[in-house]
Amino acid sequence: MNVEKILNDLEKKHPGEVEYLQAVREVLESIEEIYNQNPQFESAKIIERLIEPDRILTVKVPWVDDKGETHVNLAYRIQFNNAIGPYKGGLRFHPSVNLSILKFLGFEQIFKNSLTTLPMGGAKGGSDFDPKGKSNTEVMRFCQSFMLELWKIIGPETDVPAGDIGVGGREIGFLYGMYRKLARENTGVLTGKGIGWGGSLVRPEATGYGAVYFAQEMLKTKDTDFKGKTVSISGFGNVAWGAAKKVNELGGKVVTISGPDGYIYDKEGISGAKIDYMLELRASNNDIVKPYAYEFKAEFHEGKRPWEVKCDVALPCATQNELNEADANNLIKNGCICIVEGANMPSTPEAIEVFHKAKILFSPGKASNAGGVATSGLEMSQNSMKLNWPAAEVDQKLHQIMKDIHSACVKHGKGSDGYVNYVKGANIAGFLKVANAMLDQGVL
Ligand code: GLU
Repeated sequence: MNVEKILNDLEKKHPGEVEYLQAVREVLESIEEIYNQNPQFESAKIIERLIEPDRILTVKVPWVDDKGETHVNLAYRIQFNNAIGPYKGGLRFHPSVNLSILKFLGFEQIFKNSLTTLPMGGAKGGSDFDPKGKSNTEVMRFCQSFMLELWKIIGPETDVPAGDIGVGGREIGFLYGMYRKLARENTGVLTGKGIGWGGSLVRPEATGYGAVYFAQEMLKTKDTDFKGKTVSISGFGNVAWGAAKKVNELGGKVVTISGPDGYIYDKEGISGAKIDYMLELRASNNDIVKPYAYEFKAEFHEGKRPWEVKCDVALPCATQNELNEADANNLIKNGCICIVEGANMPSTPEAIEVFHKAKILFSPGKASNAGGVATSGLEMSQNSMKLNWPAAEVDQKLHQIMKDIHSACVKHGKGSDGYVNYVKGANIAGFLKVANAMLDQGVL
């Protein structure tokens, strides 16, 4: 495989799709060796077939606001690869959404979903619609208008969307309601549904819990755990919230959360009612964390990211490329021993290089944040069986999946000096399953 040639060709076809090219480069560099050892991959052009999505749906979404004014947004669904199961992946509503971002997310999703051990292909979707400051009825009208197009290409055995940034329980409800009407069926076509209408217990917490379970396994390899550890978290959404809950449960102290406006440093620790307050902050629809500082007398650092704070473990749970080389150096200088991504691709390639050079524990989102989509997979199983599992059962399955993903990363990522490169491990393990399925099923 000629990584540079493949990337050059890809860039020519898709100029300016920076995030997408970044995600593809990382995977290609990780799998190069194993790819070259298996000439059957090259002769079946597995990489060329894997780096382009199967199809992309682009639609305009017209909707009317509360004042009667009409707006038009763009929305997408990218069905990347379904060799091992129905297309699966979230929908993101954020003004930054474009094809490059959704393609990077969809591409990552292929390997992440493969790692979960469950039969799910990779997809992603979303819109540049900004839920910030919108009323419930505006969000509802937007979701209904989007589903008028989206329903044509999704289905419980075809493509199962879920939430991501800007898409939570409320949006899934509006989307599902419209799907149910149009398709005239009550199936598990979306995950992250409400508990009373097909949702799974533990799904809201699952991404954060999963990341912390994964971190627990990583810390175990250094004979340590969360007890007494200071933990820095970025973000204040679903992932950060679940992670904060689980870190507290395991005896760690969470000292930061962050938003687009800056970060909160709470020396006393973010626990109990303060974690519940994160949900209130999110529900306020303002996308800021500053109010936490007044509420709990904590420090607010405007326009900054939390990576300058001293911590033992860092959990970037906000968004892509939120942790750069300088941040990585800061974390190491301050004694951080473990960085576990809760978001998708939050560390830049330069930051990852710093972690790898320092040989400290670092895990990429496609491994450590797979608990969310894994629990979506468990929601699909429950929907198919028309059953609801108790919370403890879902949690136990999630925990086991995270342990298995960790083992797969160690198996494929451990070097001769004993250092585990989790990026390499995750990419190889995720890739092999999909590539072998593609080989078995012929050129399609
Ligand atoms: N958006 C989440 C992710 O990035 C969850 C996707 C899902 O549950 O399908 O994996």
